[in-house]
Amino acid sequence: MLFEKTSAPLRALNLPTPVPGPNQLLMRVHACAVCRTDLHVVDGELTQPKLPLIPGHEIVGAVADLGDGVNRFKVGDRVGVPWLGWTCGECAYCKSGKENLCDHAKFTGYTLDGGYAEYAVADQRFCFPIPKSYSDAEAAPLLCAGLIGYRSLVKAGNGKRLGIYGFGAAAHIVAQVASYQQREIYAFTRPGGDEAKKFAMNLGAVWAGGSNELAPEKLDAAIIFAPAGELVPQALKAVRKGGTVVCGGIHMSDIPAFPYSILWEERSICSVANLTRRDGEEFMALAPKVPVRTEVETFPLEEANEALHRLRAGKIQGAAVLVNALASL
Ligand SMILES: [Zn+2]
Ligand SMILES: [Zn+2]
Repeated sequence: MLFEKTSAPLRALNLPTPVPGPNQLLMRVHACAVCRTDLHVVDGELTQPKLPLIPGHEIVGAVADLGDGVNRFKVGDRVGVPWLGWTCGECAYCKSGKENLCDHAKFTGYTLDGGYAEYAVADQRFCFPIPKSYSDAEAAPLLCAGLIGYRSLVKAGNGKRLGIYGFGAAAHIVAQVASYQQREIYAFTRPGGDEAKKFAMNLGAVWAGGSNELAPEKLDAAIIFAPAGELVPQALKAVRKGGTVVCGGIHMSDIPAFPYSILWEERSICSVANLTRRDGEEFMALAPKVPVRTEVETFPLEEANEALHRLRAGKIQGAAVLVNALASL
């Protein structure tokens, strides 16, 4: 499914099967989750995609062929491919354990072709083994919603009372991890989003309300997954002195001006960008222990446009996942 220009639907077409280069593996794609970032790409809010582009960066599949030098996987292994697709290993960020900020990083489904396809190539160094307890479709959302959610949770610190704004794919995973860590989840959903509130409560939230409300208790930290800048001042009002507001998305509408008093008393705001391989290893080890259960709605690959449309409209509960019907053949 090919992205060629903003405001045109993805186009289904047959392309030659890609050939794995040095250090790359070829995978038969079984499932690829649909991330909000994919919407930011096709809607033109992320402005530097390779073109034409195969979107998708939460890929689960089976290794079908190996390029030169591949030693971490063999043909038939099940692997997952995340957003971080390549880093230089040489810049100051790479050398200081912050490869998520690499000056020259390449990103799956953005500056590299991704997983809205039957086959994909990926650099073996950035692929993860998938825990056995997950099906292909269940595992796919772990690769971004899970990983970025996990990185956001770590950034939020160890406080007990955690607010989550935007109860979509990342939140539904983070809530389970946070509950496992004995924290209390306060879920903030679109005003009037009764289904989302119910969903949050079913996943262990102790309170659910509209994003324009305040929780009954001051929060230790809040994570914002919804791409709406007006949530930043809302979240600052919801956290206690010294509390942290983490912006977990790659894109957000402008943050409106707000009085300094809601930031004062050592509250802080930070963002999360990308992931490191270490995040991936930690989260993939943790997920089966919780165990994180992903709620997925599957679509055949050729219905990628419909999946994107439903995500944009806020009509996906949990995560949308594209599946290849013929994958097991
Ligand atoms: Zn680098
Ligand atoms: Zn993503």
